[in-house]
Amino acid sequence: MTFKTLDDLPDDLTGKIVLVRADLNVPMHDGDVSDDTRLRAHLPTICELSDKGAKVLLLSHFRRPNGAPQPAMSTALLVEPMRELTGRSVRYVEDCQGDEAARAVSIMLPGAIGILENTRFHKGETENDPELAKAMAALGDYFVSDAFSVAHRAHASTVGIADHLPAYAGRAMEVELAALEQALGDPERPVVAVVGGAKVSTKLQVLEHLVEKVDHLIIGGGMANTFVASRGVDVGKSLMEKDLIPDAEGIFDAALKADCTIHLPYDVVVAKEFAANPDSMRTCNVHEVGPDEMILDLGASATEALADVLKTCRTLVWNGPLGAFETEPFDAATVALARTAAALTKEGSLVSVAGGGDTVAALNQAGVAEDFTFVSTAGGAFLEWMEGRELPGVSAIEKKDG
Ligand code: ADP
Ligand code: MG
Repeated sequence: MTFKTLDDLPDDLTGKIVLVRADLNVPMHDGDVSDDTRLRAHLPTICELSDKGAKVLLLSHFRRPNGAPQPAMSTALLVEPMRELTGRSVRYVEDCQGDEAARAVSIMLPGAIGILENTRFHKGETENDPELAKAMAALGDYFVSDAFSVAHRAHASTVGIADHLPAYAGRAMEVELAALEQALGDPERPVVAVVGGAKVSTKLQVLEHLVEKVDHLIIGGGMANTFVASRGVDVGKSLMEKDLIPDAEGIFDAALKADCTIHLPYDVVVAKEFAANPDSMRTCNVHEVGPDEMILDLGASATEALADVLKTCRTLVWNGPLGAFETEPFDAATVALARTAAALTKEGSLVSVAGGGDTVAALNQAGVAEDFTFVSTAGGAFLEWMEGRELPGVSAIEKKDG
C-alpha cells in the first residue's frame, strides 16, 4: 500500500504539532457519551503521538450543525470523556482554525491533546473549501488521517488539508486499510462474498463490483427474492423489486463471464405475517412459496450448503444479513453462517472481513464479531469500498507518498 504511517514520522516529535482527523461523532444520551467505541478507536494513534512529545490536535465533525456553531454540538462535550480514556492533559480549543485557536495551541504542553471545535461549524468543511483547509493546516506540522469512516467524504478536514501538510495514515486507518486490502485487494483465493439486506437497489453497485472480484457470490436477504423472481419463480408476498429484474439478469450474465458462482437460497423460511414466531411460519422449497406468504430467512438446508461453500474458501467479505434478523427466529441463517465463518477464522483457514450497520449488529447478536478477522464500523465508507470506488480521504493520503 502506498501511504505513510506513523512509523515514517520522526521518533521525537517534541514541539511539533500533529493534526489528527478522527471520527469523534459518538452517540450521546442526556449530555453523556452513550457509546465510546469511536473515541477508543483512536487511542493508539493519540497515545503514540503524545508519547513522542507531539501536541495532538483532534479534528472531527460532531452531528450535523449545517455550517454554523451550535452549543449542543460542541466538541467541548468530549473533553472529559477523552481525559478519562487517555489519562492525559486534554483541552478544548474553541475553533478548528484561526489566530485564537493558534494561541490556545501555543500554550499547550508537549504531549498534550487538544480537541478542536466541530469542523462542521464552518460551512467550508463539507464544501472542501481550500481557504478553510489551509487555515486548519496552518495550526500544525503534520496531518494524520485516522478516520476511515469519513474517507468517502471529500471535506476540508479529510481531503483539502492534505494539500498543505505531509500526510500519514493513523493506526486505526492503517488497520482498516490493511484488512480491506487483504479481503479484496490481494486476497487469498478462493474468495466468497456474502451480500444480504433488504433491497437490491441499495447494493446494485456492490453486486456488480463483487462479481468481477470474487469466486463465489452468496446472495441472501430480501434482495435474493428479486434474483429468484428473475428466474421466473413466484415469490408470493415477499419483498421484491420488479424494476430491478433486468439488473439481476445482468449480474447473472456478468458472473458467468467472470467465472463467479452465484448462490441463491433453495429452501426458505416463509410466513403469512411479519411477526416474531408467527403460527403460519414454515420452511419450504423456494419454488413452493404460496401467494400469501413472504420469505423471511434462508432455510436450514440452504444455510448448510452455504457453510460448505465457506469451508472451501480462504477469504470472506460479508455485507448484509441473510434474513429479517431483528425478528425471532428469522436470524437463524445469519447467526448460523456467521458462527461457521467465525469458527473457520479461529481455525486459521479463513480471513473474514465484514461491515455495514445491520451486519455488525447481526454479528454481535450471534456473539461472533470478535472472532472475525476484521469488522468495519464505517457504514457508508465500507459500502463505497465494496462498490470498488476510490475513496477521496484515502487518495488524499496516498498521493502524498513520494
Ligand atoms: P447493512 O446495514 O449491514 O448494510 P442492510 O441495511 O442492507 O444491511 O440490510 C439489513 C436489513 O435487511 C435488515 O433490516 C433486515 O431485516 C432486512 N432483511 C433481510 N432479509 C430480509 C427479508 N427476507 N425480508 C425483508 N427484510 C429483510
Ligand atoms: Mg442498514
